[in-house]
Amino acid sequence: MTQTSPTPRIDTSRPHPARVYDWFLGGKDNYPVDEALGRQITAMEPTAKYGARHNRWFMQRATRMLVARKGVHQFLDIGTGIPTEPNLHRIAQRAAPEARVVYVDNDSIVLAHAEALLRGTPEGVTRYLQADAREPDRILELAREILDFERPVAVSLIALLHFVPDEQGAYDLVRTLVDALPSGSHLVLSQLASDYDPERTREAVDMYAAGGVTLVPRTREEFTTFFSDLDLLDPGVVWLPEWHPELAVDEERDGTAVPLYAGVARKP
Ligand code: SAH
Repeated sequence: MTQTSPTPRIDTSRPHPARVYDWFLGGKDNYPVDEALGRQITAMEPTAKYGARHNRWFMQRATRMLVARKGVHQFLDIGTGIPTEPNLHRIAQRAAPEARVVYVDNDSIVLAHAEALLRGTPEGVTRYLQADAREPDRILELAREILDFERPVAVSLIALLHFVPDEQGAYDLVRTLVDALPSGSHLVLSQLASDYDPERTREAVDMYAAGGVTLVPRTREEFTTFFSDLDLLDPGVVWLPEWHPELAVDEERDGTAVPLYAGVARKP
């Protein structure tokens, strides 16, 4: 395990994205400040919890697709979040026991749970890195110790990029990661849409801002720009639940709309 500080500090005075997200998922790793923001968001947007579950389901479908149909056996998942079963490595190693998975998050609460992310197959490797997505070079340097960048890697940033403003390098960090990958690698993304229900999205942005968290929803066009120079797999950029629903296992869908975009692309 790699971490930046020997004693991770958990700040319970203000909400943290990973913990609010955990509350949406019905987890126990959140504090009153996180629950308060979660409740506020849910009161305005009752589907927020459903959206969080859909991100996990999308991760599972994308991983199944990449490991089984595209032969990708190496994964770099940035903005992993607090674990819920099955995690990415379980899905990947079920299909390919030798699969190597590197998880990255910058929240100490995720670090505190890293152990659950590390129980993989004996043939495979799983690692957790405590690092910030805004330092892609550092992430790549650490990931190179575990992953072979001569062979295809799937890099996933699921429900992460809406926490990284353009001016903090959202597009540059994706570019840096993609540039480091060999041909046949894949980029897996989802993020909050700004053009689904602009007014409600603005309210959500304000609520997060009041809690000290910057939320950056993007239009379909802005989201699609992350995939520049890559070949989007069918069906392209779509609403999260619409990305290969046939790969779903144990999803409890109820048809509620989910205002997040999703896409997976291959590096030519
Ligand atoms: N990918 C998971 C979790 C999404 S919640 C899922 O889709 O279910 C967003 C996660 O990104 C949180 O765990 C949060 O701690 C992490 N995160 C936010 N900003 C980050 C940054 N700059 N660097 C690394 N992780 C970040």
